[in-house]
Amino acid sequence: MNASDTYALAVHAGAGNDIPGEAPPGTEDERRSALLAALREGEAILQAGRTAVDAVVHAVVALEDCPLFNAGKGSVLAADGTVEMDASVMDGATGRAGGVSTVTTLRNPVLAAQAILRHSPHAILCGPGAETFAAAHGLAREDNAWFRTPHRIDQLRRAKERGAGQERESTGTVGAVARDRLGNLAAATSTGGMTNKALGRVSDSSIPGAGVWARNGIVAVSCTGTGDDFIRNATAYEIEALVAHRGRGLAEACNEALQRIAAQAGNGGVIAVDAGGAIAAVRAADHMAWASVREGEDPASGLGSAGPVRYETGAGA
Ligand code: ASP
Repeated sequence: MNASDTYALAVHAGAGNDIPGEAPPGTEDERRSALLAALREGEAILQAGRTAVDAVVHAVVALEDCPLFNAGKGSVLAADGTVEMDASVMDGATGRAGGVSTVTTLRNPVLAAQAILRHSPHAILCGPGAETFAAAHGLAREDNAWFRTPHRIDQLRRAKERGAGQERESTGTVGAVARDRLGNLAAATSTGGMTNKALGRVSDSSIPGAGVWARNGIVAVSCTGTGDDFIRNATAYEIEALVAHRGRGLAEACNEALQRIAAQAGNGGVIAVDAGGAIAAVRAADHMAWASVREGEDPASGLGSAGPVRYETGAGA
């Protein structure tokens, strides 16, 4: 098999800094197994010869369905105690992208993003319009209370007791990047956003160029972090620009874009795959949860919680 015919896939479940007194739900083992299970879901799609877009969407659905992560069921709560979710997907083969923002009833926001990519003339829909569009395409809905777990209810209470503004824990938002056997690149991201955020706040996770990006021949990127900074810096697109126009290597480009965020007092991480199937998982934060696989190789994973490492390169980069 030619290296150019092989697939590559990476998933993440967030990156960030510790908040004293706060820990993500579940154990490290549980989070790692959930990440690896999502990786297998996506890999099965690529093994079957299907597209990079299908693979990233399947992987992200598996992560949204896991209540340990800040996406779909288990999303963090906004200041009023409700859940508002954002998600996006981008197809590097066509340049088409779909995003949803501030949705409150869609069981799998990334499926709504994919429906927009496929069927809408628009790139992003938000709120009730997004929900109506998704329902018209047969997507499942739940009451908002269905998304709220006891962990998230307690977390919001503690944030309010601390007098915190919006805040994010060290892991949670989810995403995936893939290269399929035909060389197509795709990326998807999904989040409940930040704990105690203002209602109506839009995260980078719904915005192509900010929290998601894919272009065949160059790179696919999924971001996690202080999303307002990622929006202001067009971080996902900046990684493409650094690779394509500045000749940076994949991990180097990811690191440079993240260092810009860190210099502005933000934090976070990215996963990326390039046209040759190299994968990078890079963080400028205390923790990052990621897993990756390339065809014919064993999966790799990391929770990035050991030592003072601020820069981490995943398998193949
Ligand atoms: N980027 C997400 C947001 O700003 C949060 C995260 O990645 O943890 O909503």
